Amino acid sequence: MDTVKIGQFIKSLRKEKSLTQREVAERLNVSEKTVSKWETGNGMPEVGLMLPLCKFYGIGINELLSGERLDERQYVEKAEENIACLVDRTPPRKKIIITTISCILVILSSLALILISAFFIAEIWIKSVVIGIAMIVVFADISVIILVAVSTEIYTCEKCGEKFVPSLKAYILAPHTFKRRYLKCPHCGKKSWNNSHLKK
Ligand SMILES: [Zn+2]
Repeated sequence: MDTVKIGQFIKSLRKEKSLTQREVAERLNVSEKTVSKWETGNGMPEVGLMLPLCKFYGIGINELLSGERLDERQYVEKAEENIACLVDRTPPRKKIIITTISCILVILSSLALILISAFFIAEIWIKSVVIGIAMIVVFADISVIILVAVSTEIYTCEKCGEKFVPSLKAYILAPHTFKRRYLKCPHCGKKSWNNSHLKK
């Protein structure tokens, strides 16, 4: 995503309307400094502000992210590029933390549900259904944590120095510590303890 191009684009839209940065800032309920940051390309509007900004200037989000007006054909083409970019902008570490916290909360409440039903529900069949559902939720949640971890971690081979992403199966089955995993390198084929890094 070219923030400088986007900045120039929204600046030109503002000039078309003969507005000052202050006027735009007031209309969008942000500081003048924020508008200036957008226009110089030093910052992108937060996702929550994109829609109001686009409405204000009469453009589509896709055009905003592309930094230019688009015709119909370009619109579809650019949409895919831009969505990929947006998803990529969430920092991996943040993604992991958010997912882990929410998953742990779900797991804890499911465990609480299991305990409560084990002690307080008399009918066996209701008890089994509740416990069954809670266990499925816990299992699904653990899978989500693993999937997120796999999708954000990258390993460097000790032997040849190549970086690689292990398969889900290799990731789960490999012996590991917090930072290292015993994996087979797809480049040199040797097994070693590899250090993990977060994808940039
Ligand atoms: Zn290797």
